[in-house]
Amino acid sequence: MLMCRDLAVIASDYIDGELPVLQNMSVKMHLMMCKDCRTFIGNLRASTDMLKAHSSGEADEELIRKIDERVAEALKEGPRDSTNRGPK
Ligand SMILES: [Zn+2]
Repeated sequence: MLMCRDLAVIASDYIDGELPVLQNMSVKMHLMMCKDCRTFIGNLRASTDMLKAHSSGEADEELIRKIDERVAEALKEGPRDSTNRGPK
């Protein structure tokens, strides 16, 4: 029987679909019974997808716009009084 810690070890292979059929089945069985591992796999899959999206070379316009906004805001606020600890 697959344990949670076993699943953690092979989780990324499971997400990539690289597990042998039998092992893949035991992961699925475990996920049906174990809420913690469902959450774990869900989070892992979400971050894997995000990484893949960002490494594919396709720019995420929404994200870039958000970063731009942050930068613009930071520039507007500026390193005034209390936060003035940069090298000068
Ligand atoms: Zn589990």
